[in-house]
Amino acid sequence: MSFVENNFTVPPPITVAKFGGTSVADHAAMSRSATIIKDNPAAKVVLISACSGVTNLLVELANGLADNEQRSKRLQQLRTIHQDIIDQLAHPETVTTQVEQLISHIAKLAEQAAQKPSVQLTDQLVAHGELLSTHLFTQILNEMGASALRFDIRDVMRTDSQYGKAVPEVDTIRQLADQHLQPILKTDTIIVSQGFIGADESGVTTTLGRGGSDYSAALIAEAISAEILEIWTDVPGMYTTDPRIAANAKPIKEISFCEASEMANFGAKILHPSTLLPAVRQQIPVFVGSSKAPEQGGTWIRQSVTDAPKFRALALRCNQTMVTLTSLNMFHAYGFLAEVFRILAEYKISVDLITTSEVSVSLTLDQTDTCGGAPRLPEAAMEALSKLCRVEVEQDLCLVALIGNDLGDAPGAATQVFSRLEKYSPRMICFGASTHNLCFLVKTAESREVVQTLHQGLFE
Ligand code: ADP
Ligand code: ASP
Ligand code: MG
Repeated sequence: MSFVENNFTVPPPITVAKFGGTSVADHAAMSRSATIIKDNPAAKVVLISACSGVTNLLVELANGLADNEQRSKRLQQLRTIHQDIIDQLAHPETVTTQVEQLISHIAKLAEQAAQKPSVQLTDQLVAHGELLSTHLFTQILNEMGASALRFDIRDVMRTDSQYGKAVPEVDTIRQLADQHLQPILKTDTIIVSQGFIGADESGVTTTLGRGGSDYSAALIAEAISAEILEIWTDVPGMYTTDPRIAANAKPIKEISFCEASEMANFGAKILHPSTLLPAVRQQIPVFVGSSKAPEQGGTWIRQSVTDAPKFRALALRCNQTMVTLTSLNMFHAYGFLAEVFRILAEYKISVDLITTSEVSVSLTLDQTDTCGGAPRLPEAAMEALSKLCRVEVEQDLCLVALIGNDLGDAPGAATQVFSRLEKYSPRMICFGASTHNLCFLVKTAESREVVQTLHQGLFE
C-alpha cells in the first residue's frame, strides 16, 4: 500500500505500537491489545513484552535455583500462564509445538544456570518470555482476521555484548531494518515482534535491561522512520506521579520530550529511561495510553507543548547505592576526581548523581540491568578506590525527583519543596545542573511518604 501525493509515491505513515506485560497478560488482555492494532491501519509494527510475571520467573531461574522442586515449580507456573492462553485459541495446534519447544529450552537453560549462572545465560533465558508471548499474540491477531507475521527481532536489534544492559548499535539497526523490515512494510502484513531482546554481532542473545521493551519500540520506530510511537500499558498515560503511590495523581495530557525524559530517567517506571532518546533524534511523537481503556486517551509526548508548568511531576527510584569517597588529598588538589572517574570508567561503572565537599565526594551508581536490585560496586573497583581514599557504601536509599520547568529561575522553588520535608532527612540534594529537575535521596522506608507529602503540597 502506498500513497500518491503530487505525483510522488510516498510511503504511508507508520505507527509502532508497544504493549507491556499487563497488556499481554492473558487471552483477554491480548485480545484487547490486538483490537487496538486492528482498529488502526497505520499500526504496522507491534512490539510486545513477555506476559505479566514471566520475566520475573525467568530471572529467578537464571539466578540459579539449585533445588529441583523450586525449579519445577517455576517451570510449571510458566507453563500454566502460556497454556491458559493457548487453551482459548481457536487453533491451538498452530502454536503448541513452538511453545513446548521454548519451554523445554527454558528447562534446559535453567538447569545449566543452577550449576553455573552467568550474565550471558541470563539473557538467553529471560529472552524466552518475549519469544513465547509473540507466538501467542501473532496467532490472536490472525484469529481476528488480520494478517500478522511473527518476526524475530534479533535479526534487526543489533547490540554490543554487555549482557543484561546491552547497548544498541543504531546505524546497524537501521541497515538491518532496511533489509528485513522494510520489504514486509510494503505489504499489508502486521509485524509482531519482541521488545527487550536483541543479539550481538555473533548472534548471541542480549537484553536491554528490565523494562527495555519501551526502548526497543523507540529504536525500531527510529530505524523505520515511523510517524508515531505508541506505548500501551496499564494506566491511561503519564501522571503527576505514580498513581500507585499517590491516589490523587493527575493525568498529563501533553508533555515535552525534555520533561518526560527527566521523568523516565528519574524513575517513572512507565517509560524505560532511554525510551525517548530515539524519539527525540527522529522527532517522533510518543503516545502513552492504557490498553484496558483506550477510550480514556492518554499522554502525548512531543518536542514542543503549549503548557510548561513550574512543577510537572514527581518520580521515585529505589534501590540506590551511594558511594562516599573521602580523602584529605582532595583539598585544593587537582587530578583527584579525574583519578576517581578513571577507576570507575575502567570498571564500566556509570555514575548518576554527584555532590562534593572540600574533602569528599558522594555519588550514586546507575543501574538498569536485567538482574535488577541495587547496583554493586565491584570488589576490584572498591580495592582500586580504597588505595586512593576512604570508601563508604550505603544502600537502602531511594531517589526522589521533582520535574518541572525553569526550576532554577523560579523564586522559592527550593523552599516550596524543603519546607514540606521538615520531618525527613533528604541527602545528596542536586539542583541547578538542569532547570528541569531537583532531586535528593531519602531512606527507603520514608520514600513513599515523602512523595505523597510533596504531591499533596505541590500538585493537589
Ligand atoms: P508495562 O508492563 O506496560 O511496561 P510498567 O509497569 O513498566 O508497565 O509501567 C506502568 C506503571 O508505571 C504504572 O502501572 C504505574 O504504576 C507506574 N508509574 C510510575 N510513574 C508513573 C507516572 N508518573 N505516571 C503513570 N504511571 C507511572
Ligand atoms: N519483559 C521485560 C521486563 O519485564 C521487558 C519489558 O517488559 O519491558 O522487564
Ligand atoms: Mg515497562
